Amino acid sequence: MTAEGAAQEEAAHAELVALAAKQAALGEVPGAPAADAVNEPMIRHWLDAMGDTNPRYLSEGLAPPAMSQVWTMPGRHRRDPTPVDDILTTLDANGFTGVVATNCDQTYHRYARVGERLVPSTRFESLAGPKRTALGEGYFATWIVTWRTQEGKPVAEMLFRVLKFRPVRRREPYPLRPAVNADTAFFWAGARAGELRIQSCADCGELRHPPGPMCPSCRSANRSHVVASGEGTVYSFVVHHRPPVPGLETPFVVAVVDLPEGVRIVGNIVDCPVEEVGIGMSLRATYRSMDDELTLPMWAPRET
Ligand code: ZN
Repeated sequence: MTAEGAAQEEAAHAELVALAAKQAALGEVPGAPAADAVNEPMIRHWLDAMGDTNPRYLSEGLAPPAMSQVWTMPGRHRRDPTPVDDILTTLDANGFTGVVATNCDQTYHRYARVGERLVPSTRFESLAGPKRTALGEGYFATWIVTWRTQEGKPVAEMLFRVLKFRPVRRREPYPLRPAVNADTAFFWAGARAGELRIQSCADCGELRHPPGPMCPSCRSANRSHVVASGEGTVYSFVVHHRPPVPGLETPFVVAVVDLPEGVRIVGNIVDCPVEEVGIGMSLRATYRSMDDELTLPMWAPRET
């Protein structure tokens, strides 16, 4: 992470901590009474959906306790503000857009009865984080909803906790992927590690590039590699103008680079105006991360 990014993270965290303290200090914030009183049709639908055949609910006019939240569910176009809203909005604004519920604990005090209109109230409890999780870095937000009758008798409580996380972003795969096989895997692993690895014969020591299965000098199939210095000079090059190449901006330079180790390698020349590239130019290897898996070695002018 860059220093600027770290400073932004710190500012976002400070904002969230301050907001969480402010919202928690509000205490319990009453919401609007339920749009509808506890009623038999809703209870019947619920019992049917849950496969609950206990006849007492309908015969005695009692709502199943687990329905508490049902009565005061916000509609699609109707939502009473709660002290949690600003927390979630601020988390979203800072990139913590993912959400997954992690805890839901309900406590039942008494049955809600047909004809009663429940009133929810919400208390924001805490914000914990940032924490690293398998889903991404995030904050756990916890709040408690209490449902009461309009006379103020408690019916049920629910502790609800969500993880708001910053989804791990995968970059689009770079479209021009090299063929990685048993002969070349060491080279691409080297590029990821910031090394220019050149295949060597484990018997006679001769270097060869591109990698292959067998030594052209002694015909040995025993392979090893060395780590090159990362220096090179332009042996030959082309400036590519047309056609367009996916993932690259034209014009770009592709060069054959002489390594002091004694082999040549093909690579793009970057960080240099196209017209300044010339035969014999001194280069140093540079490693460009193209997507989550692929790093390409490229070449940049060597500062002298
Ligand atoms: Zn050999």
